[in-house]
Amino acid sequence: RYFNEQPFTNEQATLTGDSAKHIAKVMRMNVGDEVIVVSEGVAHICTITNIEQDVTVAQTGRTVASPEMPVRVTIACGLPKGDKLELITQKGTELGMFSLQPFKAERSIVKWDDKKGEKKTERLQKIALEAAEQSHRTHVPVIENPISFKQLVATISHYDAVFIADEEDAKQSERTKFADKLRALAGEATSILCIFGPEGGIARSESEALLAAGAQTMSLGPRILRAETAPLYALAAISYEFE
Ligand code: SAM
Repeated sequence: RYFNEQPFTNEQATLTGDSAKHIAKVMRMNVGDEVIVVSEGVAHICTITNIEQDVTVAQTGRTVASPEMPVRVTIACGLPKGDKLELITQKGTELGMFSLQPFKAERSIVKWDDKKGEKKTERLQKIALEAAEQSHRTHVPVIENPISFKQLVATISHYDAVFIADEEDAKQSERTKFADKLRALAGEATSILCIFGPEGGIARSESEALLAAGAQTMSLGPRILRAETAPLYALAAISYEFE
């Protein structure tokens, strides 16, 4: 299964770079073998027609059913320490995340300048591509460059629903309410933004600003989850209610 950024022309496509190398050198495939090529969100079953440095393929006319969630879920994480974003990217991709938006939270300990942010984004995008291939996604989650909290607040009107994960609300009754809120959105909402704090949590002022801008709280149960566990719980809960 290979993602091809170029659209098909006359039902033919050329795979280059890592994809071509993987087909020829790792899989040792031959002309006539079938591969799945994902282009513009559709997984086409194709026959290999030529293998050189690049690989050309032709559509067979058969496609594979889409495994995408019926709702686009964006995960916004206050910048966490270490390689937690790598884990969130990989596992979030398996769980159906649509995009990842890191933001500079008040309690984020790591401070990235724009250059470091861009480098990290590039690495995360590669992880998302590999995870999307292995979990048979037809969409590669988009990894955005880190933004400020103020910029995050400015984006929330783009979504049908916005949730803040706040462990202060993490009581059993609040968790039930989160499930009810999701159930009410299923079949209605096409985009959801879920916002998570870093290790030290979301600051009260941040939570108030988000609620004032129209966000709702989401409880992920009575236990305090690690910064990298919370987004994965939310994705699993959304998948359960929507799929
Ligand atoms: N100190 C731990 C760590 O180092 O990872 C816990 C971090 S927890 C404060 C990080 C974020 O996860 C919180 O800001 C919140 O967004 C989310 N979170 C964790 N447990 C939660 C829960 N039970 N309900 C809602 N959100 C939760």
